[in-house]
Amino acid sequence: MHIQTHATESGQDLYPADRLHTAREAAARAGLDALLISPGADLRYLTGYDAKPLERLTCLVLPVDGYPFLLVPALEEPAAQASPAGGLDMEITGWNETDDPYAVIAARLPSSVARVGVDNHMWAEKTTAFHAALPGARQELAGSVLSGLRMRKTPQEAGALRRAGEAIDRVHARMGEWLRAGRTEREVGRDIADAIIAEGHVRVDFVIVGSGPNSASPHHELSDRVIQPGDPVVVDIGGTTQDGYCSDSTRVYAVGEPPEEFRQLHDVLLHAQIAQTDAVRPGLTAEQLDAVGRDIIADAGYGEYFIHRTGHGIGLESHEEPYIVSGNRLPLEPGMAFSVEPGIYLPHRYGARIEDIVICTEDGGDRLNRTGRYLVVLP
Ligand code: ZN
Ligand code: ZN
Repeated sequence: MHIQTHATESGQDLYPADRLHTAREAAARAGLDALLISPGADLRYLTGYDAKPLERLTCLVLPVDGYPFLLVPALEEPAAQASPAGGLDMEITGWNETDDPYAVIAARLPSSVARVGVDNHMWAEKTTAFHAALPGARQELAGSVLSGLRMRKTPQEAGALRRAGEAIDRVHARMGEWLRAGRTEREVGRDIADAIIAEGHVRVDFVIVGSGPNSASPHHELSDRVIQPGDPVVVDIGGTTQDGYCSDSTRVYAVGEPPEEFRQLHDVLLHAQIAQTDAVRPGLTAEQLDAVGRDIIADAGYGEYFIHRTGHGIGLESHEEPYIVSGNRLPLEPGMAFSVEPGIYLPHRYGARIEDIVICTEDGGDRLNRTGRYLVVLP
């Protein structure tokens, strides 16, 4: 059995009790009869319960008509009760090893249930079992209802993201301790991972150290390449704090003086990224924000080398809605939190990406990552 831990000072504020009600209303508006939510970010968002995904079913059942309940394996019940979910006006029930939890849920739902919203990340073996237990119910994605809620952060969530941003900034500020010529990316990455924990996270989500030509591969992680003098190095790192909120920030370093051409590339990228973070305001659409940086990079002749979207939402997951991408006409709203991370990648040569998390405010954008965005040349 594992012990649930929470930030007790902020736990209540982060997971307000009216969320189940808000989610139920949103489900009703979408024409769904119930939501079935398995362990993951949606369950934590709705109840504060950070449940482990297991082969045994844990499921929040949120009927549009009727009372919500959380069905958990009996051996997980103490952990569920001890979590913020235990303080909600919601029944928590354990199922025993010989019970069929899907049948338990089916028996408690009205027989008229025709459309259920299942957690976007529910395992296929569980959606299949629900299909068998509720043969008359069409399954749809609960995310269509919940992402609209999760996208708009409360002030308490914004505070949690800000603390995560400060934690990852402290790691970037220490980069000179670890990043130098003669070490491998993997050695540097191990030190960074230790620091991600030491500076205020409970989990390391990713560590990208792309040196020299590896900097041209956006999702390169770590390799045994030995970092060379003059190498550009892209460091993209993130973790999850005790509150459950994620950090994600990319800075570009050089170990010794980099090629002059690389400096020019970085200048263009920095100009684009600053223009984008400055452009954030309510009403601007996600695709308009993407275009702000893409146009600057294209005008400088690097258009074909900016090979990914500008950014992604962030919260209880490090990638969630809204996606800052061409084709997304969603207008930005106060409370939306997302990355702004344009990049330029010259294949097999070098590349760069600069990334901050930004929260849209009433009249602009608030950057959560505050370390310098210039090219940091380490000795
Ligand atoms: Zn990143
Ligand atoms: Zn990112």
